[in-house]
Amino acid sequence: MPDDCLFCRIVRGDIPVPFVYETPQCVAFRDINPQAPLHVLVVPREHVASLDAARDPALIGELSLAAAEIARREGVAERGYRTVMNTNAEAGQTVFHVHLHLLGGRALGWPPG
Ligand code: AMP
Ligand code: ZN
Repeated sequence: MPDDCLFCRIVRGDIPVPFVYETPQCVAFRDINPQAPLHVLVVPREHVASLDAARDPALIGELSLAAAEIARREGVAERGYRTVMNTNAEAGQTVFHVHLHLLGGRALGWPPG
């Protein structure tokens, strides 16, 4: 767990951010700059820089199923929602600790910007 990684610090509790959901492998919290009425980040407890650096299929699968559970609990599962992982520069990744965005609560355009 790198000392200087923002999401490692949140996972450790160094930065007090309420978790909306957690499992032994991951935590989820609301995005500080929400892009939809529901915007939650699902983050593995283990530090992995990006999807490109990930090697554990179970860990990556965990993030998607956690997002699906949060979507049901937040009441958007039937209406629909989107899960997104931005990977590296052209996709706009800004925090290099892999995370899944869960967006819902409004109609979402396609293709994304
Ligand atoms: P990305 O640009 O895909 O790497 O996503 C990083 C996300 O982290 C952005 O949507 C930010 O708004 C969000 N973010 C940055 N700092 C915090 C924080 N302290 N708490 C919650 N979300 C954050
Ligand atoms: Zn980290």
